[in-house]
Amino acid sequence: MSKLRPYQEDILNNVRQAYRDGYQRPCVVLPCGGGKSCITAEIAKQATQKGNRVLFLVHRRELVDQIRQTFFDWGVDLSLCRVEMVQTACRRLTKMPEPRLIITDENHHCLAAGYRKIYDAYPHAQCLGVTATPVRLNGGGLGDVNDKLVVGVTAKWLIANHFLAPYDYFAPPVADLSGLHTKRGEFITAEVMSSLDKSTIYGDVVGYYKKLAAGRKAICYCASIRHSEEMAARFTAAGIPAEHIDGATDKYTRKHIIKQFRDGQIKILCNVDLISEGFDVPDCSCAILLRPTQSLTLYIQQSMRCMRYQSDKRAVIIDHVGNYTRFGMPDDDREWSLEPKKKKKSMVSRAEQVRQCPKCFFTFPMEQVCPHCGYEFPKKDRGDLEEDVGAELTKIEGFTLDYRTPDDCTTYLELLNYAKTHGYKSGWAYYQARNRGLLNDRA
Ligand SMILES: [Zn+2]
Repeated sequence: MSKLRPYQEDILNNVRQAYRDGYQRPCVVLPCGGGKSCITAEIAKQATQKGNRVLFLVHRRELVDQIRQTFFDWGVDLSLCRVEMVQTACRRLTKMPEPRLIITDENHHCLAAGYRKIYDAYPHAQCLGVTATPVRLNGGGLGDVNDKLVVGVTAKWLIANHFLAPYDYFAPPVADLSGLHTKRGEFITAEVMSSLDKSTIYGDVVGYYKKLAAGRKAICYCASIRHSEEMAARFTAAGIPAEHIDGATDKYTRKHIIKQFRDGQIKILCNVDLISEGFDVPDCSCAILLRPTQSLTLYIQQSMRCMRYQSDKRAVIIDHVGNYTRFGMPDDDREWSLEPKKKKKSMVSRAEQVRQCPKCFFTFPMEQVCPHCGYEFPKKDRGDLEEDVGAELTKIEGFTLDYRTPDDCTTYLELLNYAKTHGYKSGWAYYQARNRGLLNDRA
C-alpha cells in the first residue's frame, strides 16, 4: 500500500473542503504524471471504508483492468467500488444501486451525453472529476457539469521537484501543413494524411529520430492507423525495431508488444492515440508527434508521455507537426477556468512566447540565444516573431538531412519543402520541378 505525496494530500484536503463548502461536483486538475490515479484511489478507499458505494468511470476499455488493479493494490474495497466504462455503466443504470460518489477519470469528456445520463440518473451522488486539462476540444470550459476546480501543482513545479523529467523540445517541420481544415474542432485526417503519407517524409522522421534521439525508447503518435503501421514499418526497415498497436490489437498481442517495449527489444511504439494516461514505461524518454491536433488535451497527453521521472533522465520531444505553435510548450503555466474562454486568445499569446532556433529546430521559451546550439537571434527578431521565424527558416544552415536527395522528391511541394529545409531558394525548387515536368502537380 502506498502513501500520497504531500502535494497530493493538499489536493485531497482541498477536495474535502470543496464538499464542506457545498460544492457537489469539483474537478481536480493535475498535470500528466502528477499521480491522479493515486489520489482517486485514496478517495475511493476512504469512501468504501465508510461503507459508501463508488462508481469510477473510464472512457476506454483498456483502462478498466488497469485501474481495478491499482485500486486493489491501494486497498480499495472493490465489492463497493465499480470501475466501469461509460457505455457499460449507461446500460446498467437501472440495475446498479445508487453510488454515493461518482469519480470521472479523464474528466474533460464529462460533457458527452453518456456521462451526463449517468450523473442525471444519480442526482444525490457526489461527483469528482480528474483531468490534466479541464477544457473541451473547442476551448470551452466544463462549467455545465463541474462547479469547482481544485487546481494542484503545475507541470513546471513537478519538473523542478523531480516528479517529472525535464525535456528538450525540437520541432523540425517535415511537411507543409498550412491550410489544413478542421471538422468538429479537429484537423481532417484525410487532409493530414495526404500531407504526411510520403516516402521522403517517412525518411525524414526516421532521420530526425536518429539525429535527435538515437537509441531512445520512443512513442510515435501518428495521424491514422495506416500511417502508424507504415511508420513502424519504415523504422523497422531502417534497422530500428518498431511496432504498431491500436484499439483493435488483441489484448494478448498488445501486452506482448508493450512488454517487448519495456524490455527494450522494441525501440519505437507507433500508435494513433492509444497510449495515454496510465501507460507506464519509465525509461521511455522520447515522444514523436506526427499528428497535428487542435486538442490541448491530446497535445499535453502525447508530448508529456515520455516525461515520467527517472533520475538523470532528460526527455526529448520531437514535434514534426507544429503543435507547439498552437499550444506553446507542454509545461507552460495555464489559467484554467470553468467558464468558456474567449477562444484561442490565451493559446495564441502563449505560442508567441515560444521561439524556435532556425539552425537546430530547438524550441524554447523566449530567449535571445538558442540554449541548445548557441545560435544568436538577431536583435530585431524580438518583435514580430511569427514572421521572423518564417524568414529564418529560409536560411537554415548546418542541419541538413544527408540521407535524402532531391531525387527522392516526387512533387513540386516536396521540392519546396526540401529547398526550405536545406536552405535553398524556392526558385531552385521551381527550376527542378520544371525540368522534371512536375509543375502540373502544383495543386
Ligand atoms: Zn539552436
